[in-house]
Amino acid sequence: MLLEMRDVSVNYGKVSAMRNITLSVPEGGIVTIIGGNGAGKTTCLRAISGLARLSSGEIWFQGERIDTLSPDRIVGRGIAHVPEGRRIFKDMTVEENLRTGAFLRRDAEAVEQDLEGVFKRFPRLRERRTQRAQTMSGGEQQMLAIGRALMAKPKLLLMDEPSMGLAPVIVEEIARIIEDINAQGVPVVLVEQNAELALELADHAYVLETGNMALEGPASELHDNEHVRAAYLGV
Ligand code: ATP
Repeated sequence: MLLEMRDVSVNYGKVSAMRNITLSVPEGGIVTIIGGNGAGKTTCLRAISGLARLSSGEIWFQGERIDTLSPDRIVGRGIAHVPEGRRIFKDMTVEENLRTGAFLRRDAEAVEQDLEGVFKRFPRLRERRTQRAQTMSGGEQQMLAIGRALMAKPKLLLMDEPSMGLAPVIVEEIARIIEDINAQGVPVVLVEQNAELALELADHAYVLETGNMALEGPASELHDNEHVRAAYLGV
């Protein structure tokens, strides 16, 4: 397994955000975490990237325990996080935003090649490279947030609600981008409220309900599961 979360609980003060969650991410695929508002999905990603501290449990990545490391060290190990709401630097240009993704890297030539790769993948980012990020549309900002994460040369990409607030046609575009990044060898953990989209993209799925793991299984099986259909797919 590439990543293993073992029996992890996270509290925010007296609020228990996730309880005894165990999940694993294999090399290669797309794993999704679905669930309603406040189920603990964002907390799960924040625990992996070191932004939320565990109250119990362990997280292992490539055979190393990482829940004791600082967030920048976790980025250094190869885990990049595309946060909920994109969190780009609005006053910086598109190119400056992208370069922040490579802040830990010392391989200057490879960084330039990867920047070129991001511009190839997202031609609109190239066209707008000197433009301030806040002038971009929601879809473009999402692409920028994904591009910035790719600049870290990740071995694992965590994506929090990439479809949020975007028009259906843009959501489809983002979905193809996620598939494409994965096809080029980067495993993805995808958190989504849009369960239909998530189950279409993922190989394996976990369902969180108020901080507990309710269900897990192959995404295609969960797509046909009665409870999932009634609670998350609106059928
Ligand atoms: P959403 O899709 O609405 O973002 P989520 O499944 O990602 O939901 P989390 O954001 O992980 O859920 O929140 C899990 C629980 O932890 C919720 O009850 C939430 O109110 C609580 N919570 C999250 N962040 C904090 C915080 N910084 N302080 C206190 N409670 C928090």
